[in-house]
Amino acid sequence: MRLSRYFLPILREVPKEAEIVSHRLMLRAGMIRQESAGIYAWLPLGKRVLDKICNVIREEQNRSGAIEIMMPTIQSADLWRESGRYDDYGKEMLRIKDRHERDMLYGPTNEEMLTEIVRAYVKSYKDLPLNLYHIQWKFRDEVRPRFGVMRSREFLMKDAYSIDLDFENAVIAYNRMFVAYLRTFARLGLKAIPMVADTGPIGGNHSHEFIILASTGESQVFCHSDYLEMDTPGSDVDFQDPSSLQTIVNRWTSLYAATEEKHDEAAFAAIPDGQRLSARGIEVGHIFYFGTKYSEPMNATVAGPDGVERPVHMGSYGIGPSRLAAAIIEASHDENGIIWPEAIAPFRVGLLNLKVGDAATDAACDAIYAELVSRNIDVLYDDTDERPGSKFATADLIGLPWQIIVGPKGLANGMVELKRRADGSRETLPITAALARII
Ligand code: ATP
Ligand code: MG
Ligand code: MG
Ligand code: MG
Repeated sequence: MRLSRYFLPILREVPKEAEIVSHRLMLRAGMIRQESAGIYAWLPLGKRVLDKICNVIREEQNRSGAIEIMMPTIQSADLWRESGRYDDYGKEMLRIKDRHERDMLYGPTNEEMLTEIVRAYVKSYKDLPLNLYHIQWKFRDEVRPRFGVMRSREFLMKDAYSIDLDFENAVIAYNRMFVAYLRTFARLGLKAIPMVADTGPIGGNHSHEFIILASTGESQVFCHSDYLEMDTPGSDVDFQDPSSLQTIVNRWTSLYAATEEKHDEAAFAAIPDGQRLSARGIEVGHIFYFGTKYSEPMNATVAGPDGVERPVHMGSYGIGPSRLAAAIIEASHDENGIIWPEAIAPFRVGLLNLKVGDAATDAACDAIYAELVSRNIDVLYDDTDERPGSKFATADLIGLPWQIIVGPKGLANGMVELKRRADGSRETLPITAALARII
């Protein structure tokens, strides 16, 4: 992509309305624009990041055996009357009437709809296990939308739903998602800690919030510091093997980690001095076993091996890709801007032409650009007539992992500069050597 033909509305001023660094940087880098309170448009740079986050999530969901579908944003109130949640959900739900005066709603979540799909088609234990997910916009009329896309009213969610015959199989499904989440957050460059979370009337211990520690987080959390060093499962995890999944889950739940609602002072005090972490955290994912909470009232039953009909056991598993875009910036930035992990950078490479109009510089940049494009490497070519200082500032602000800096002085000796955004290191080297580093 040539910057001269791109749409990258950079803000040089620090926006006053933004209270936290990720919100400031997303506005300054031209990633998002607020359209009304808690409702954002995603501009090209933001959209690229959001898509990359979704793709990592999708790959790990698919690897674990979950199957992608797409449910609508608008739902019928009648479905929610069946589960009893239409009245319970309260003001966070956006209620709408269609032209026939029918009650509709903009989905804040999809348990009811998924249960409806399951009851229509899934009749036998032989159809199970099943895990269906979608990545779709949700609306929750948050009392206090704030921090940009971190807590917005319209936001993107990946929500998966597992369907099993009984509790034992539901736990295997839960463990699959637990492990898939560990892998997902690691690939996004995050240290997300699974923390024991509230299960409400369902009881049991199958609810975990995946939390990233950050001073701007809205939750108070408590955990053992060793979680920050724990290895995440590799791509060779066997999702078909319940016992190896259980081993990973056991290790990742062996140390203390809890959200405020489930905090146990005594257990926390037993952690050795110096390893006790009491911190603020951002909830980026949440997995939850809720048993027959919806299948029972909504009559989603299957016949077991004995022919007897029973309500299916279900769990739901959410991740917020739009919140994640902000959370990753909270975890990875410096005073000059965003530092994207390579896996989700909007472009892997920034190509900076320091003297547009100079024939040799233009020719070298064109050749580098063509080479990267032919190798399918996302590159943003700054071919504008801005001053070099402003090009450096833009490249750092939008956080591209690699910068190839091309100017007439270096080129006279056959050299370009290669800069790594992550540590600021710079090297002067021939074009072919610079490309070899990246390709
Ligand atoms: P929170 O405690 O932050 O209000 P939640 O517990 O209500 O979140 P869940 O219902 O568990 O959220 O939804 C799953 C995921 O969706 C969350 O872990 C989070 O990543 C994301 N999410 C929830 N609410 C929002 C929001 N208002 N804006 C952006 N992402 C959100
Ligand atoms: Mg909430
Ligand atoms: Mg929560
Ligand atoms: Mg939650």
